[in-house]
Amino acid sequence: MNALVKSHLMDITARPEIIFARGEGAWLWDSEGRRYLDFVQGWAVNCLGHSHPAIVDALTKQAATLINASPAFYNGPALALSERLATLSGLASVFLCSSGAEANEGAIKLARKWGRLNRNGAFKIITFENGFHGRTIATMSATGKPGWDTMFAPQVPGFPKARYNDIASVEALVDDETVAVMLEPIQGEAGVIAAEHAFLRALRERCDRHDLLLVLDEVQTGMGRTGPLFAFESAGIRPDIVTLGKGIGGGVPLAALIANDRANCFAHGDQGGTYTGNPLMAAVGLAVLDIVGGPDFLAGVKARGQVLREGLAALSARLGLGEVRGAGLLLALGLGARRDSADIVVRARELGLLVNAPRPDCLRLMPALNVTNDEIAQMLELLGKAIG
Ligand code: PMP
Repeated sequence: MNALVKSHLMDITARPEIIFARGEGAWLWDSEGRRYLDFVQGWAVNCLGHSHPAIVDALTKQAATLINASPAFYNGPALALSERLATLSGLASVFLCSSGAEANEGAIKLARKWGRLNRNGAFKIITFENGFHGRTIATMSATGKPGWDTMFAPQVPGFPKARYNDIASVEALVDDETVAVMLEPIQGEAGVIAAEHAFLRALRERCDRHDLLLVLDEVQTGMGRTGPLFAFESAGIRPDIVTLGKGIGGGVPLAALIANDRANCFAHGDQGGTYTGNPLMAAVGLAVLDIVGGPDFLAGVKARGQVLREGLAALSARLGLGEVRGAGLLLALGLGARRDSADIVVRARELGLLVNAPRPDCLRLMPALNVTNDEIAQMLELLGKAIG
């Protein structure tokens, strides 16, 4: 183990004694040459697996052409990517940035500005218990993770918390100062808990009735992760604002804030950032969309998601575990009465498998969207050994 790496990287999380050196598709190799089957994929980021040739190609070609000409000038890849995202989402205006938290900060600012212009200064954004929106101070305030309200107190005010899948709890919070409702279509960090489609439709209806903006955080669920390109398509609704991150960059820092004409009210100077809309990352976003948006790709995600779901259900039945939750290739395996997901993660890693444990009572599987059925079978075998 390289003590130098340890001593100079801020110790922000418990890292195992492994240095990853190389990745290819579903596999990672450490500095000792050990191979790992990766069902974490950078926290659902590498949607095409490690070092996909299309991403490498887009990066190298764009790096040799133009890396950054400042967000105050147009560039080809940013224009092309924003056009593609607007067409695919049905929302007209796109702000490209570098992380999910940054996209959500932008959504919060946009909603507050909209409230100032259209709703007499209304600024409150109803968010949800156990929701997750990022690690900046404002997005932590929007986050409903237990304990986060006091971590870096005082919070940014104006984020009352409703209960997920409980429309009455939302209604009870609406007042003259409410400007928006913001949520994940599936709460990923909470342990892959899905919003019921009827709940999402009811939220859309209440937002229309009370003149509120509906903001969907699709940082984790977007870009085909749950089957359709956007998870909101499954519920048959369209938000006023949607945020994307993770998969859109296939592993590089790229995110997007997308708003319809009703919501988009940013004027010059309201929003920006040195790296926003840089052509290097936008070129990667285009390469990712070429594949994820291509014919049959999403049908493949649904099919492989079904294979993974059935495999996990069989494992659960065999080992007496809990339910399988989620959609597409964002799935969680509940452990029933067990609370040892962190130990299972360690045992799996020792067997050469990377999985994630967002909660003590469940495991989260978020493989590359192009994972093969054979890799799913190998994962299930290793996971069975790690749990059993
Ligand atoms: N929103 C959701 C739903 C997320 O899952 C995450 C990351 N886990 C974020 C926002 C924050 O994204 P980032 O880490 O890129 O800032």
